[in-house]
Amino acid sequence: MNLVPMSNRLRFAPSPTGELHVGNARTAIFNWLFVRKFGGSFIIRIEDTDIDRSQKRFENQIFNDLKWLGLDWQEGPDIDGQLGPYRQSDRTENYKVQSQKLLDKGLAYNCFCTEKELFIQAEEAKRSGLAWKYPGTCRTLSREIIRDKIAKGCPSVVRLKVRSGRVQFQDMVHGEMDFSSEVIGDPILIRSTGLPTYNFAVVVDDFSMKITHVVRGDDHLSNTPRQVLIYEAFGWKLPIFAHLSTILGEDRTRLSKRHGSTSIQHFREKGVLPEALLNYLTLLGWAPREDQGEILEKNQLIEYFDLEQVSRSSAVFDFDKLYFFNRHYMKTVKFSKVIDLALSFFSQEGFMKEMDSKLKTWFELVVQAFLPGIDHLSQITNKTKSLWFFDGKASVNTERVCQILTNSGAVEVIFELNVQISDPKRDLIKDWSVILEKIKSVSGQKGKNLFHPIRVALTGIDSGPELEKVVSILELGSSLNLPRPIKNCRTRVSEFIEAMTLVGITPPSSDL
Ligand code: GLU
Repeated sequence: MNLVPMSNRLRFAPSPTGELHVGNARTAIFNWLFVRKFGGSFIIRIEDTDIDRSQKRFENQIFNDLKWLGLDWQEGPDIDGQLGPYRQSDRTENYKVQSQKLLDKGLAYNCFCTEKELFIQAEEAKRSGLAWKYPGTCRTLSREIIRDKIAKGCPSVVRLKVRSGRVQFQDMVHGEMDFSSEVIGDPILIRSTGLPTYNFAVVVDDFSMKITHVVRGDDHLSNTPRQVLIYEAFGWKLPIFAHLSTILGEDRTRLSKRHGSTSIQHFREKGVLPEALLNYLTLLGWAPREDQGEILEKNQLIEYFDLEQVSRSSAVFDFDKLYFFNRHYMKTVKFSKVIDLALSFFSQEGFMKEMDSKLKTWFELVVQAFLPGIDHLSQITNKTKSLWFFDGKASVNTERVCQILTNSGAVEVIFELNVQISDPKRDLIKDWSVILEKIKSVSGQKGKNLFHPIRVALTGIDSGPELEKVVSILELGSSLNLPRPIKNCRTRVSEFIEAMTLVGITPPSSDL
């Protein structure tokens, strides 16, 4: 007796017919976590039998997205193993060989019913309010008739002879599953084109590739009884099944395009960090113990993850929670990673170019200052627009700024700011706290009434990082050779005052 336990072999089997979405990515992650925790091999198998819809670019994108998420695998189209090939389109010979075995044993048969005939039957059943299943018309055709039809070139499919009785299997998530075979029409194994159906190919491949655990979305739960019947017909041992719950949108309907884009590529382009997405997706349908917390890094996810604790109820995809995780990881991952990503967004906008060390120090200051105000890094360019585009006139005319200017003492604050920074030799960065104190004592304003007017005069808007940081960024930035130059504090304040004057707001002293 072989006492060595068979090593775990889990697979992720995407169809390259579209982008990788969060649902399938979660399936990949759960497979991967299981293998990383208990050992074994994680295998990628590309299910590309749908020739019309499968595309190489989607296949490449799936690989890139999985790698970006931090997953790795031991076998796949790009890493050869003993049990390849790893694309179904390269395995078609085996499907033919295996289906012939079932035909030879009398457990499968050629069916010559045309699609039109079957369609008419299904429509009739529908009209009478009955559920339709294939009635087994060709089950009992004699060998002679079959031979004759094949010789005449009549197209046929290969169907499994579904046995009577119950179909049962264990599911790690859903427990004991029990279906009546009465409702299952003899499924097609091989189409008239010679290509296998999903149910047949997946069973033949999972068996041939020695897959021990089939972990996939529960949209396949209803396919599993058919697959179990195919395993039984071959006399093959069933793998362990685990069907993961559906992911829903916030309105509790199946997550789809209506809820916004949920492809991995989309989140990448938004500048969501892979660490955040990996962490968040793992919590869709699985929860760590309360004392373990929810912010979990890769090694903790591997340590705590438990496939047996996966919930059978649907998980709701919560964008806000994902961004909460992302905000956390933007603060904790290596800063150079955040900088590189931020730079790619600034370069796209034409705000930044290649950096020397002086530019880099300034850029780090910008990112550091604006990071707390964003959910994901693609927002950073918009958040920092006030640095590059300052227009006093346009700003004075916005409702929000007008409102601030009518607040008590706002105009005094701005004019005093102008007085305090008027000496061109004064170092505004070094002296900022002194300047602020002076404006405070002269105007008698504090808190919001002090800071808001200063902020709008410097940036044109009423929100942003602490003023001290803004002043440093503007003063240092204005001395750099940037693709889009930045105006310094003095220029901004005098432009702002000029705009105020144009709309009739004058220095308080002139009223005296
Ligand atoms: N190609 C199938 C899908 O993408 C795989 C299903 C399975 O894992 O069996 O849904």
